[in-house]
Amino acid sequence: MAVERTLSIIKPDAVAKNVIGEIESRFEKAGLKIVEMQMKQLSQADAEGFYAEHKERPFFADLVAFMTSGPVVVQVLEGENAIALNRELMGATNPQEAAEGTIRRDFAESIDANAVHGSDSAASAEREIAYFFGA
Ligand code: ADP
Ligand code: MG
Repeated sequence: MAVERTLSIIKPDAVAKNVIGEIESRFEKAGLKIVEMQMKQLSQADAEGFYAEHKERPFFADLVAFMTSGPVVVQVLEGENAIALNRELMGATNPQEAAEGTIRRDFAESIDANAVHGSDSAASAEREIAYFFGA
């Protein structure tokens, strides 16, 4: 295993629920370090560009509306196997299918308001980190 970096977003629903600290604590307890961090109100263009891979999906407009509905925390997590480890801590996209003890199971309401984003591969991590923090 190698030390990796991955892009994490605490989405507007979790920020509104006041659980930023509880979510960060999950990452820290798992050994991930927060090496970049910014609280940010995404513009429509920010959200559309970030989720460009989903632009043909039926939920795209709702996803962009949700991601711009309030502030988010955009951050880079670093650690051994960080990309897969973050996905494991997050749980499945649909919180109803997410394993017990995962962030989405514990803090998310629905498949569209699901608390967190995490890069799904090394290529996505590289693109997404550069998107918000530069190369
Ligand atoms: P993940 O965030 O687990 O990587 P995807 O990349 O498939 O999931 O989708 C990106 C985001 O789009 C999801 O986190 C969720 O907010 C939203 N989404 C995905 N599938 C649906 C769906 N069927 N209905 C509504 N929103 C969805
Ligand atoms: Mg994804």
